[in-house]
Amino acid sequence: MCVWRSTVAALLACAFAAGGAAAPDSADPPLLREIAATVDANELHATISRLVGFGTRHTLSDTRSDTRGIGAARRWVQARFGTIARDCGQCLDIVTPSQVVTGPRVPQPTDVVNVLAIQRGMTDPQRVILITAHLDSRVSDIMDSTRDAPGANDDGSGVAAVIEAARVLSKHKLRATLVYGVLSGEEQGLYGGKLLADYARAQGWQVEADLNNDIVGNSNGADGVHDNSTVRVFSEGTKALETPAQANRRRYNGGEVDSPSRNLARFIAGLAERTLANLRVRLVYRTDRYGRGGDQVPLLEAGFPAVRVTEAHEDYTRQHQDVRVENGIRYGDTMDGVDFAYLAQVTRLNLVTLAALAQAPAPPKGVTIEGAVTPHTTLKWQPQAGVAGYRVWWRDTTAPQWQHSRYVDAAAAQPNQLTLANIVIDDWFFGVSAVAPDGHESPVVFPGDAGSF
Ligand SMILES: [Zn+2]
Repeated sequence: MCVWRSTVAALLACAFAAGGAAAPDSADPPLLREIAATVDANELHATISRLVGFGTRHTLSDTRSDTRGIGAARRWVQARFGTIARDCGQCLDIVTPSQVVTGPRVPQPTDVVNVLAIQRGMTDPQRVILITAHLDSRVSDIMDSTRDAPGANDDGSGVAAVIEAARVLSKHKLRATLVYGVLSGEEQGLYGGKLLADYARAQGWQVEADLNNDIVGNSNGADGVHDNSTVRVFSEGTKALETPAQANRRRYNGGEVDSPSRNLARFIAGLAERTLANLRVRLVYRTDRYGRGGDQVPLLEAGFPAVRVTEAHEDYTRQHQDVRVENGIRYGDTMDGVDFAYLAQVTRLNLVTLAALAQAPAPPKGVTIEGAVTPHTTLKWQPQAGVAGYRVWWRDTTAPQWQHSRYVDAAAAQPNQLTLANIVIDDWFFGVSAVAPDGHESPVVFPGDAGSF
């Protein structure tokens, strides 16, 4: 059976597969299309409308009112998760980890509260896939906690995507655990992301991915471009936690563009190409936008693979602004700046990715590579239970996406290694993925410390 990464790769892979073991049917399982079809733009609209209705969701805003401020907003999110849990036979555990913080943008001790809904995996509950967004909003003055800060797009759009993920995916029984995270304190200093990273570590979660959705609903850019068919995925190139010795090895042999987060981003781009019409992922080789941050950063600093999902063209007149008209220009992050059809597409990509990751085996561990001064390259990896096989991928060192692959059946005589005859180690980058019996495939793992998940 041929593989599907791209037309060229498919042709090559088919040629290589001839005479080798048969891979499981590698067309994407129908589950992913079914999930994409269930996403409802009206649900996204309803969520953002409710969030905007709380006036401001500033982290330092009132927490006692039932109608205004961050307290009312997070209790609404908690109740919404509660309704979704009731509709799936209590398949979600809802927790609200919190921490009192102070800092440059938090002068008085303030309780930062995350709202998490946890959908336990059926067979691999210790494997955790996260989707996150931030509930808090702001205006021009970062310390202004009373003025209307609608935050429809930043980050009502992301929160709407997270809640829609819970609504749709809670109807499915998936292998790994999914965590739907609505975080707080982002604008005041990424406190919610830090709190989540601490919570994940304390729980012993084996986090394989965080899809941090921040500003995902606008299709009209300040650069004058209207683009409703591209989404950017930012990913770090080298691990935040890299040691000096690891950095030295990586600088010599490569791996600058193959962190687990980067290969997660490639995985997302491949899914968009194969499962969604009219949505393309623009991979950006950066942790975040220039000089700016998001809640994926504390997760990266804790050693967890994470990416930022964000719209292709931002409109800065709508971000972090008092709602006003000045010199004929409308400022402020209001509902009319959200393109709900576009947001629905970005949400579909998130849901397809979450399901694909949860159904795939864990990314292979202990991947090593050897072959210097020989014409052949050998990759080895640790055995993994429950997989149909593995796929060894390689690409030109300057290529953005994996190009060629060869399948290794788990029932083969040597199921945990492959020697690529006459493929010279010097000239390519290599990696390995794990494949489930039903065809779901993990992200590709680059060998050594630089690429390990
Ligand atoms: Zn934001």
